[in-house]
Amino acid sequence: MSADLTRNQALVMKTLSGAEAPLSAYTILDRLRGDGLRAPLQVYRALDKLTEMGLVHRLESLNAFVACAHPNCHEQELIAFAICEACGKVEEFSDEIVKDRLDGWARSHRFKPAKTTIEIRGNCGSCVAKA
Ligand SMILES: [Zn+2]
Ligand SMILES: [Zn+2]
Repeated sequence: MSADLTRNQALVMKTLSGAEAPLSAYTILDRLRGDGLRAPLQVYRALDKLTEMGLVHRLESLNAFVACAHPNCHEQELIAFAICEACGKVEEFSDEIVKDRLDGWARSHRFKPAKTTIEIRGNCGSCVAKA
């Protein structure tokens, strides 16, 4: 973990790294009350910064946050998340072929992508096996 995180950023990062599923800002705040965090703004500021640094991702469809699974993934333009609706587990991955296809579309439409996030909702392998 980066040494130049503020105390609040480090606390939020630790909470997300240890989480079994994505967490909302309010759940993070709840878990950090014992550490002296009181205001939602403290958590939002830390999340903003961590997201900017690529250590944390925001899942738009859940309005929740996950710790990045791959230290250098913020250098990739495409990030995909498979979100299990049964157990809440999120798997982060990227795919060169999908990226190439989307890049091709963007080029042919003169669209300049800044960031691409794919969110797949469904059931993970172990939940499917249990059903
Ligand atoms: Zn990531
Ligand atoms: Zn599952």
